[in-house]
Amino acid sequence: QPVLAVVGRPNVGKSTLVNRIIGRRQAVVEDIPGVTRDRVAYDANWAGRKFTVVDTGGWEPDAKDRAAAIAAQAEAAIAAADVVLFVVDSSIGATDEDAAAVKMLRRSSKPVLLVANKADNQNMEYEVHALWSLGLGQPWPVSALHGRGSGDLLDAVLAAFPKQAPLEDHVPGPRGPRRVALVGRPNVGKSSLLNRLAREERSVVDSVAGTTVDPVDSLVVIGGETWQFVDTAGLRKRVGKASGTEYFASLRTAAAIETSEVTVVLLDSSEVISEQDQRLLSMVSEAGRGVVLAFNKWDLVDADRRHYLDKEIDRELKRIPWALRVNISALTGRAVEKLAPALRQALVSWEKRIPTGQLNQWLTALVQATPHPVRGGRAPRILFATQPSISPPKFVLFTTQPLDPGYVRFVERKLREEFGFEGSPIDIAVKPRK
Ligand code: GDP
Repeated sequence: QPVLAVVGRPNVGKSTLVNRIIGRRQAVVEDIPGVTRDRVAYDANWAGRKFTVVDTGGWEPDAKDRAAAIAAQAEAAIAAADVVLFVVDSSIGATDEDAAAVKMLRRSSKPVLLVANKADNQNMEYEVHALWSLGLGQPWPVSALHGRGSGDLLDAVLAAFPKQAPLEDHVPGPRGPRRVALVGRPNVGKSSLLNRLAREERSVVDSVAGTTVDPVDSLVVIGGETWQFVDTAGLRKRVGKASGTEYFASLRTAAAIETSEVTVVLLDSSEVISEQDQRLLSMVSEAGRGVVLAFNKWDLVDADRRHYLDKEIDRELKRIPWALRVNISALTGRAVEKLAPALRQALVSWEKRIPTGQLNQWLTALVQATPHPVRGGRAPRILFATQPSISPPKFVLFTTQPLDPGYVRFVERKLREEFGFEGSPIDIAVKPRK
């Protein structure tokens, strides 16, 4: 959903305006400049359109170097927003600080609406018109406190939002089968597994209506759903195995992973995790695809080995602790029915989107409970977070300063605990304000 950022000097009435927009007394309003509130993002709805409001009053700068801080605040908000409301106190008029912020705002391509707040009555007409001097176009006279003018302003905000999100965002339309790469070193059991899956459900299919499938791919029904296993020509026919050099094979594997949405890495539970396995695992984790680790040949694993294996696995797989695991036997068919649910789970995680309001509510509580360690006399702060994309989920943290890598890992771990992203990598980018 689109994001509306409310930007302006301290005490111009940003939080009152946010309250007016969300129609609730959610944002705590303190009549003291520089008060830092604990929440900045809220879900709002106007004329049936849902959007997120970011109250930058929640990250008001200290008294020193205010102009620079306000400009930086505006910059961070612009980065996250689809539309910016720049709020000015019309009873005071445009100040130098306002003018400095406007400079930043005008450099961006985002639409900016100029809000002439505290226009509590009709007699403010002259003051409101004087704000044309800021060069942001028409000032919108509003009394955030009494509600005057806010409806017109919101109509203008909706008009400035990007056109309604395309429907496929909400309604999954007809789409081809999900693409799976089945990878693993030679002799780990890839073709055995593919054949087993095909046999179990008696169902290698040749085509799916309305889709074209590369002849090197296999369509296999597992768990009642058709999956497209990419680049399996060599596996299916069980001939010409181990053709080409290792280099060539690894290029093919990389291409298959790239083409896939979710990758099954097949490992041999009867052997140690080799260097080749490790290379494959890092390739997969860097590709940004969902991952299911399938430990094959489980029928060869006895109780002693199982115990040892669990430890080894935890140690060896530090690289991708989030990967889903299944212990299977392509030979006996043990637990192969667990593969389809794992693939589905990985894809759900891979395509999961956390609403901005919910994300920030959680994050605020987290950083309050466990703030970033103090560094050079100050603790870097996270101001606001968004999730701009999925497949895989990507998060952006807007911060006062760069964050320690250890703290970013902490945020990722907690994010996974809270929202669950089993089977999917997530990407966290940190954007410090300059
Ligand atoms: P690929 O090179 O990865 O396609 O591996 P294959 O499917 O050709 O399997 C290599 C060897 O491992 C064959 O002899 C298979 O019979 C054997 N194999 C595959 N899966 C299993 C399994 O789950 N248990 C056991 N014991 N052997 C297996």
